[in-house]
Amino acid sequence: MSSKQASFLDSVHRNFDKAADLLDYPSGLISQIRACNAIYEMNFPVKIGKKYEVIKAFRVQHSQHRLPTKGGIRFSSMVNKDEVQALAALMTFKCAIVDVPFGGAKGGVAISPRKYDAEALEKITRRYTMELIRKNFIGPSSDVPAPDYGTGSREMAWILDTYTTFKNGSEIDAVGCVTGKPLNQNGIRGRTEATGRGVFYGLREVLNDEAEMKRVGLEPGMEGKTLAIQGLGNVGSYAGSICSKEGGALIVAVSEIEGTIYDPKGIDIDKLVKYRKAKKSIVGFPGTKKLDVREDWVKIDCDVLVPAALESQIHKKNAKSVKAKVIAEAANGPVTADAEAILLKKGVIIIPDMYINAGGVTVSYFEWLKNLSHMRFGRMDKRFNQNAFGNLVDLIERNTGKKVSNRDKSIIVRGADEVDLVRSGLEETMINSFHQIKDVYKRKRKVQDYRTAAFICAIDKVANDYMTMGVFP
Ligand code: NAD
Repeated sequence: MSSKQASFLDSVHRNFDKAADLLDYPSGLISQIRACNAIYEMNFPVKIGKKYEVIKAFRVQHSQHRLPTKGGIRFSSMVNKDEVQALAALMTFKCAIVDVPFGGAKGGVAISPRKYDAEALEKITRRYTMELIRKNFIGPSSDVPAPDYGTGSREMAWILDTYTTFKNGSEIDAVGCVTGKPLNQNGIRGRTEATGRGVFYGLREVLNDEAEMKRVGLEPGMEGKTLAIQGLGNVGSYAGSICSKEGGALIVAVSEIEGTIYDPKGIDIDKLVKYRKAKKSIVGFPGTKKLDVREDWVKIDCDVLVPAALESQIHKKNAKSVKAKVIAEAANGPVTADAEAILLKKGVIIIPDMYINAGGVTVSYFEWLKNLSHMRFGRMDKRFNQNAFGNLVDLIERNTGKKVSNRDKSIIVRGADEVDLVRSGLEETMINSFHQIKDVYKRKRKVQDYRTAAFICAIDKVANDYMTMGVFP
C-alpha cells in the first residue's frame, strides 16, 4: 500500500475526530459511528482469454444504522481495503448530510479497466456481483451499489441483469438493487449528470455568499469566475460544462492523464469532451497550451480548483503553491489532512467532498424510489399541471383582454418532466444542505472550516438515529 493511499483513510479519521471532539456524545457512540460495520474481501477467478486471473475485490458496509447501505463500485488498480473503507465512511456522512436515508458503503475491484476489453470487464463484473449475492451484500433493501471511478451505466446494467437472473422473478423490487443504470434498464433521467450538476449548485451557493467572498477577496457570484478542473470523466466534464453554460464560469484549465491544457479565454468543455473521444487526448485542443508538468494544474492562477479525479491530489508538498481562493472537492478525498491545514491557514475555502459531490447519491436515491414505485416521476401530474396552467392563462387573457404570446405560453403552460423534477429535487437538496452546514460554520465558535461543520451535521444525524434506536442512551 502506498503512503498516499494510507493517508486517505487517515485523513478521513483525522477529520472525523476533529469534529467529534467538539461534540458531547458518549465515546462509545462516537466509536461506533467511526467504525466500519462489515468488510467483505474476496478473491475470485475469472478466465480471460486462455488464462485464469485471480481478482481481488471488496465491499464495505460502513454503517448499517439505516438500510439499505449505498455506495459506488470503483474499478482501479489502486483499490485496497483502506481506500474502500475510507470511501464507505464518507458515504455514511454524505448520505446524512443530504438527508438520503441510507447507510454508507463502497465497493472496489482491484483492476485497471483500461487493460481489459468489454467482454472481460463483463465477466469480472458479473462474477463480482455473484460474490455479493452469495454474502447478501447486494439487494434493494440491504446494499445498493452505483457507479464510481472506472465504472458507469454499462457495468450497472450487467449488475442488474446478474442480480435479476439470480433472483428469477422472486423479488418484486429487484431492479432497485443498483442505481446509475441506463435509462432503458430502469434508470432515471438526470443521473449521469447528477454529481457534476450537484457540484454546480453547491459551488454557486458558496460563491453567492457575500461575507465569505469578501473574506477571500472575490466578488460574489459564479459569473466570470475562473476554474481549473482535474479529471474530464463523468464528474469533471458535467461540472465544467454546467458551471460554464448555466453559471457563466470560465474553465481556464483541464488536467487529464495525458497532460494539462490551459487557455485564459476559457475552454469549451463539451467540445473538449468530443475532441478527447476522437483523439484519445486533450492535448492539442485548439487554442490551448500544454503545461510542462501535468501536476502544475494545482498552481494555476484562478479562482476555483475543481479536483474531479482521485484522492490525495492536493497534498503537503503542493498545497503551498495553490493560488485559488476556493477548492470544490468534486472527487472523494482530493485534499489530504496535511494539505488542508496549510490551505486553511492561507484562508482558502474548501468545500468538502461529502457535501459538494453528493449530487450522485441524491439522484441515486430518486432512482431507487422510482424503482420501488415502479413508475416514472411526473407520469401522474404532468398533464394535470399543464392543463391547470393553461386554464389560468385563458382566464388572464379573458379578464384582461390581452393575449399572452406563444413564446411566453410555452414557458408557462407545461407540466414537469422527470428530468425537471430530478433537477429541482437535486437543487433543493444541495441548497438546503449547504445552509445546514453554513449554520454550524457560522454558529459554532470553534468550527472554522466547512469540512468540520459538515462532519458535525452528519455525526449529529447518525448519533440521533442510534440514540432513538435504543442501543445508546
Ligand atoms: P471517471 O472514471 O468517469 O473519471 C475520472 C477521470 O480522471 C478520468 O477521465 C481519468 O482519466 C482522470 N484521471 C485519473 N487520474 C488522473 C490524474 N492523475 N490527473 C488527471 N486526470 C486523471 O470517474 P468519476 O465517476 O468522474 O469520478 C471521479 C471522482 O469523483 C472519484 O473520486 C469518485 O469517487 C468521485 N465521485 C464520483 C461520483 C459519480 O457519480 N460518478 C459521485 C461522487 C463522487
